[in-house]
Amino acid sequence: MSVVESIHEAVESIFGETVAQRRDFHKHPEIAFEEFRTAGVIADKLGVLGLDVRRGVAQTGVVAILEGARPGRTVLARADIDALPIQDEKDVSYRSQVMGKMHACGHDGHAAVLLSVAKLLTERRAELSGRVVFVFQPAEEMVGGAEAMLRAGALTGLEPDAVIGLHLSSEYPLGTVALRAGPSMAATDSFRVVLKGSGGHAAKPHNCVDPILGAAQLITTLQSLVARETDPQDSAVVSITSVHSGTAYNIIPETAEIKGTLRTFRPETRTHLKERLETLCRGVATNLRGEAVFSWIDESPAVHNDAAMTTRMQAVVATVVGADNVLESHKTMGGDDMALWLAQAPGCYYFVGGRSGPDTSWPHHHPRFDLDEKCLGIATETLLCGVLEYLRQG
Ligand SMILES: [Zn+2]
Ligand SMILES: [Zn+2]
Repeated sequence: MSVVESIHEAVESIFGETVAQRRDFHKHPEIAFEEFRTAGVIADKLGVLGLDVRRGVAQTGVVAILEGARPGRTVLARADIDALPIQDEKDVSYRSQVMGKMHACGHDGHAAVLLSVAKLLTERRAELSGRVVFVFQPAEEMVGGAEAMLRAGALTGLEPDAVIGLHLSSEYPLGTVALRAGPSMAATDSFRVVLKGSGGHAAKPHNCVDPILGAAQLITTLQSLVARETDPQDSAVVSITSVHSGTAYNIIPETAEIKGTLRTFRPETRTHLKERLETLCRGVATNLRGEAVFSWIDESPAVHNDAAMTTRMQAVVATVVGADNVLESHKTMGGDDMALWLAQAPGCYYFVGGRSGPDTSWPHHHPRFDLDEKCLGIATETLLCGVLEYLRQG
């Protein structure tokens, strides 16, 4: 039996376990930084494998280390594990058992796949030159988990040479894998601004400083950042996603709160727009005799795939799905704090297609989101082969 065949057989033999684990996580979703059960299941399973397990990294993160038979390089494989505050509307045996919470992005599958990869690599320890660091990351959906884990010392003493990760996706058909070199997902910078005015009677605006007028001006002014200050050949988005102010028909309120998000790719564009966004907020507030209290929340750079690592992964995934099924992924303004792991070492983040019919064609974050579970096998095999290839050839 060839190496490729034996790996495929090993992945097949563990497929039922991978699906069962995915369904277990799917039934018990936990949102950002509340993934205590999920992290417990993960850490226990890794412990049974005999790996060096670091529990409770940033509360609900787990890191496990597999030392190969011979010294060599270190490869980091990351899965995110959090669910979303969405009510599951699917009619399947494994639907969420928690009201208002659901795995609507596939992170249940990511965690199950990485556990299976950990098990299969542990069985192949003798073939490994180097070390594998398995990272199970909480709170991707609020873009805070990676930073919190890194701050908590997740990689202390581990210094990866390469980083690999995947996202299951209903955007791509089952049987395909999509990836691209260079910028792949946008930098995400969310913000909150509180416009402080001076409240009073709605019939006497001259005695007040109206923060709602300020909010209205600010919402339109901020759109000039993309329309007038960004190279039309470049990409950027400013979206205002939350506006709160006021309580009654006849009261001018004291404050107005605006939340939104900025998405960019190029670091220069990101720096410029962040600085200008803040300046515009303060400027609009000052012009109207008010004040702006500004804060950035959940900042993450763009997901950038290393060219050489992407070429390697393209070759690896072609052995699994066939060269014709290796697609170039779309560049997306969606963000992912995988970017912070990719900032540690050259790496590749790729998408594994999971769409095979109407039930698996819902967009991510939809109440009926689901995946064709056959994609779990493809994900396991591509990730396993990616790590093996890296640690075998050096
Ligand atoms: Zn998501
Ligand atoms: Zn996701």
